[in-house]
Amino acid sequence: MAALHVMIIGAGTLGLSSALHLAERGVAVTVIEADGIASGSTGRSIGVVGTQHVTALDVELRAYGSRRIREWAKHGLDFQTIGYLRLGRSTGDLALFEQSLGFQRNAGITSARILEPAEIRRLVPDISTEGIDGGLFGPEDGFLDPHRFASLLAEKVREHGGSVQQGCRLLGADRHGSGYRLKTSTGEMNCDAVVIAAGPWAGRVADLFGHSLPIRPERHEAVTIRLPKPLPYVMPMVMDLVHGGGGTGLNFRHDRPSELVAEIHSASGAIADPDAYDEQIADASKEHLAQLLLERLPGLDGAGFGRGWAGLYPETPDGRPFVGPFDGEPRLIAAAGAGGYGIQLAPVIGALVADWLVASQAVAVPGAAGFRPSAVRIGA
Ligand SMILES: Cc1cc2nc3c(=O)[nH]c(=O)nc-3n(C[C@H](O)[C@H](O)[C@H](O)COP(=O)(O)OP(=O)(O)OC[C@H]3O[C@@H](n4cnc5c(N)ncnc54)[C@H](O)[C@@H]3O)c2cc1C
Repeated sequence: MAALHVMIIGAGTLGLSSALHLAERGVAVTVIEADGIASGSTGRSIGVVGTQHVTALDVELRAYGSRRIREWAKHGLDFQTIGYLRLGRSTGDLALFEQSLGFQRNAGITSARILEPAEIRRLVPDISTEGIDGGLFGPEDGFLDPHRFASLLAEKVREHGGSVQQGCRLLGADRHGSGYRLKTSTGEMNCDAVVIAAGPWAGRVADLFGHSLPIRPERHEAVTIRLPKPLPYVMPMVMDLVHGGGGTGLNFRHDRPSELVAEIHSASGAIADPDAYDEQIADASKEHLAQLLLERLPGLDGAGFGRGWAGLYPETPDGRPFVGPFDGEPRLIAAAGAGGYGIQLAPVIGALVADWLVASQAVAVPGAAGFRPSAVRIGA
């Protein structure tokens, strides 16, 4: 296995985590990146990592990430533990939260708890709990700087003898023996296996191999909120959305003592060309966010918008990432389509990519075996 040479297309969190997990298992890796590290969706994310999800599989995938991120935090990753509060608007949402507590305990996370509206107001004194029945709170969740995260992963790949080549674009691919010959903007390279981790471009990269990978680049916007003075408490990540339940999708968290960052997580429906989309936040979006924020945080007098930007969620038709080999091609692996969760899912996706190439199965989370880009999933 030590002789295997894998080329990874894309230096976002999915590509770099895949490279690191492979390199840790003694595989030779080369990451090629058309632009720079974290220049795609990764660098536009707000870096939230948490396990407050309501299905067993979603929790299990994130529990792996949470464990690895804590390990990396001991070796230079700046992870800010601010907690994650998911708001629930009905008894149905609260029942899902109860189930989540069980899934989290099974995954070794015992700190999460359900909060009554009064407890939510004690945790977040400026919040209005109008229409809120309770919350699911994970005190160990938090956020990281996605640029610094990606740079740290790249550094660790290099420490393990791997290479990360920026400014190197994949232009074409041929089967070559049992591996591949890749044509890139800096020359031809041969390898034994390829990982397609090109984020919102992953469908285009799969085309170069003659495969279909239905990735929908969905445009989302984020904005910072400048506060007139620092809050006397830490604003956790607050998410007004329950998958399979209700909510507006509004989410916000502390970024700096006098600054919050906010975003809307629900499907925007705005599909964009990753090479040509408006990277600025629209005025209409700011107005919509201001309205939602005023309803949820009516006490924040004197707050104003700061920097805003847009980026892409690489979405899939069924909302699950594509991770694993293409049909009939065990050495061509997809690692793409993580939607609005590619930072928190990067550790487990990297582990699964390494599992598929080293052990030919999904070992880290066996339930993720179905994430393969099978004909059924890609609608072929
Ligand atoms: C506003 C916003 C907020 C978000 N917040 C969060 C959050 O809080 N938590 C979370 O978990 N996720 C969040 N996300 C989602 C997360 O950013 C993405 O899921 C994740 O970054 C996807 O990573 P990736 O590695 O798949 O893709 P990317 O980061 O896009 O990396 C793909 C790379 O491939 C390169 N590439 C493309 N084509 C080629 C080629 N032909 N040759 C070589 N290289 C190529 C690109 O240049 C790019 O750098 C957010 C996203 C947005 C837009």
